[in-house]
Amino acid sequence: MAENVYEIARRQFDKAVRYVNIKTGIAEYLRTPKRELIVNFPVEMDDDSVRVFTGYRVHHNTALGPTKGGIRYHPDVSLDEVRALAMWMTWKCAVVGLPYGGAKGGVICDPKTLSARELENLTRRYATEISVLMSPQGDIPAPDVGTGEREMAWIMDTYSMHRGYSVPAVVTGKPLAIGGSLGRNEATGRGVMITTLETLKRKNIPVEGARVVVQGFGKVGAPAAYLIEERGAKVIAVSDAQGGVYNPRGLDTRDLLAYASAQRTVEGYKKAEPIANAELLELECEVLIPCALENQITATNAPRVRAKIVAEGANGPLTPEADEILADKGVFIIPDVLCNAGGVTVSYFEWVQDLQSFFWGEDEINERLRQIMVRSLNHVLRIAYEKNVDTRTAAQILGIQRVAEAVLIRGIYP
Ligand code: NAD
Repeated sequence: MAENVYEIARRQFDKAVRYVNIKTGIAEYLRTPKRELIVNFPVEMDDDSVRVFTGYRVHHNTALGPTKGGIRYHPDVSLDEVRALAMWMTWKCAVVGLPYGGAKGGVICDPKTLSARELENLTRRYATEISVLMSPQGDIPAPDVGTGEREMAWIMDTYSMHRGYSVPAVVTGKPLAIGGSLGRNEATGRGVMITTLETLKRKNIPVEGARVVVQGFGKVGAPAAYLIEERGAKVIAVSDAQGGVYNPRGLDTRDLLAYASAQRTVEGYKKAEPIANAELLELECEVLIPCALENQITATNAPRVRAKIVAEGANGPLTPEADEILADKGVFIIPDVLCNAGGVTVSYFEWVQDLQSFFWGEDEINERLRQIMVRSLNHVLRIAYEKNVDTRTAAQILGIQRVAEAVLIRGIYP
């Protein structure tokens, strides 16, 4: 039975909050979601039947500003998963210094089994159901597992239809044509690449020829893979939910992406050997980048992980037990709330551009993203050194400190 991720998020918080000087009551407030919405709603299916779906939207904390967080479509979505992801969003936004609180949403469904029309019906109805919480000033969703530009466009359109005018800033990760931002598609993967390259530099491992393994070849994993390959590293294995491919001489990840886009999986790619997902995580490599789901590296397989660096493209891919085992083995972890914060950072740029109706060039976006990622990594590493804690705890300390400061300055209403 997979570990409850909300419990994990709270355990991580409890470990970090001991280093932050705040009252017990404030700590209790910070480890609890502010509001949670559950919606059960009907969707008309292609065969004229009606199916009821369950969705969630959780706001974890709003001390620093409106909430921000993705929407996930997956059969395993649960209230506890959404709570954990919302909480991590709070620390993530604070770690990179964005004026946002954390949120997350999700619908229990398998998007692979739904037609485009059914997905559109589901998305527009879910957007309407959560519109009591969603607004450019209050809560701004974005893509996550199982959603993308298309769903964000439907959400933007649905919200705009209800208002009577276009409101692009209500959601980020939109197509460029309707107020999306240059660089957003690659932003999470770019942030992963930037923090990974900085870490390699610090550990005196040359990028040229460094072996990289990527689990999950979606919106995060695919750009992370080709951007790192472009910097000279050798991506030796990649997987998705169907299976994995392995080539010790290095994959051409752009070519693999073209194949995967056409076939909707990396499986069957001829210029590599097949490899099982479990085996892929245990390959000897310099960098392992999990970019799929939570709980992928646990007490069971952590002893067999042979990476020098684990860069968490995904949220929560390691359990606390795995953290400890990897720490004992000297594996360096770039924690999720830092490593994959490039996505929300460029989402923030998108929101700012939409609010101002003034759009930036791609070089400017990528350079601003690079500065934020490097500055945040340095800050986290400084805390890890000063407090003699692991990198995940250091990142959470930074996030918690910033949110706690905002809570204290604002005061407890009334
Ligand atoms: P996605 O749906 O685009 O891609 C997910 C990928 O993981 C797919 O290739 C899927 O086939 C694969 N996958 C699923 N189960 C797997 C398994 N058991 N083994 C191997 N591969 C598996 O989703 P995404 O947006 O790339 O999100 C991936 C992770 O990154 C999630 O944890 C998400 O919360 C996190 N994240 C996403 C963003 C973003 O901007 N999209 C930002 C920050 C963090």
